[in-house]
Amino acid sequence: MGEEPKKSQKLKIENTGGAKEHWDDTFRLMSWWDAERVKKAQVMVVGAGALGNEVLKNLALMNVGSIFIVDFDTIEFANLCRSVLFRTEDIKKNKFKCEIAGERIKEINPNVKVQTVNGDIMIDVGLGVMRRMDVIIGCLDNRIARLFINRYAFKVGKVWIDGAIENLSGQLNVYKNGKSCYECALTNTDWENIRFKMGCADIAQRNSTQGRVPTTPISSSIIAAMQVQEAIKVIHGNEKQSMAGEQFKYDGMNNWIIQFQSEPVRDECDSHYEIKEDELVKAKGLSCAMTIEDCLSWLENHFEDDYISIQLNYKIILEIASMNTEVSHDIIIPEPHFSEQKQTKYQKEPGEPIGITKYADQINRDFPDLSLTLREVGVPPLHILTVETSKDIYFVELTGDESFLEFK
Ligand SMILES: [Zn+2]
Repeated sequence: MGEEPKKSQKLKIENTGGAKEHWDDTFRLMSWWDAERVKKAQVMVVGAGALGNEVLKNLALMNVGSIFIVDFDTIEFANLCRSVLFRTEDIKKNKFKCEIAGERIKEINPNVKVQTVNGDIMIDVGLGVMRRMDVIIGCLDNRIARLFINRYAFKVGKVWIDGAIENLSGQLNVYKNGKSCYECALTNTDWENIRFKMGCADIAQRNSTQGRVPTTPISSSIIAAMQVQEAIKVIHGNEKQSMAGEQFKYDGMNNWIIQFQSEPVRDECDSHYEIKEDELVKAKGLSCAMTIEDCLSWLENHFEDDYISIQLNYKIILEIASMNTEVSHDIIIPEPHFSEQKQTKYQKEPGEPIGITKYADQINRDFPDLSLTLREVGVPPLHILTVETSKDIYFVELTGDESFLEFK
């Protein structure tokens, strides 16, 4: 990191409990520390479980300015022994992990600003949100979510830092497009597992691991600490000392640490396409609160083209049928939101299997209900739409949703 101490380090920070010091005065003694850069940084943390708790705690202690937390789970008793931010009384409140974690890190460091999304990274976080982040940290325990973070992060040119823990061990990967790639390293067995889980409509089921993974707060604090350390390097633009393109493994039982080169990236991979700045249409006139009709009209006008088709990375279910009684229903529900609970509504006999008999993976003028909003059919705020016209494919950001991103 840089040799000279920075002059720009006289930041006024309000919440110092009345003291005149800065929160990060101790860090400012390190010659490379850029207080302003860290304070301005926007970091996304996906997963607020054992690893996520430790990552969030460290980000707050390091005075990282804005933290975006994504998680779909509520707090359970089993989480307490590995989660420094959760308390016994949180279980009764039936509150979401992301909300409580957000509140608690603000208690640790009131300078930190937080935004939370209680949802699934695959469908509930717009690509435009990721585009505005400095770095993304993955604290997950399943392959599908990792695969999606990899695709999304690379698409908007971001580095993402993945942590994994098991027993007293753990590993860390810093993925950077062109240097290392989660998708490239997947084996055939991984793909079989992913395809099987992708067929599962219920989010909780889809994201579950095969049985509970045994972990301790010790392995999570070791790996999470390294994740945040790498994030701090990315924030400082320190590519030289970054672990990008390398893997780090730690075995706490046998006391070894190794670091080695990541799997080489392949030539053909769905993750590698990065949207270039000049390919991105920042559409201030578009928002996910608009109807499909209005959105299609805007795009037809903008591209002066009658053929507009918005490509989706998930399915919208249009018709389902109960398999035993053969009764079919017209519905419009994004598949990732079609939980088992919702399925029971359409079962004539209890436990009867429900099949999807019609779906859409794109939105165009043939869509059955143009009066629905984009949000109602699963498009998150500030998303970047992939739009096919008769001439080409374009990337259109719902920049009208810009106010959605609001750290508090
Ligand atoms: Zn790849």
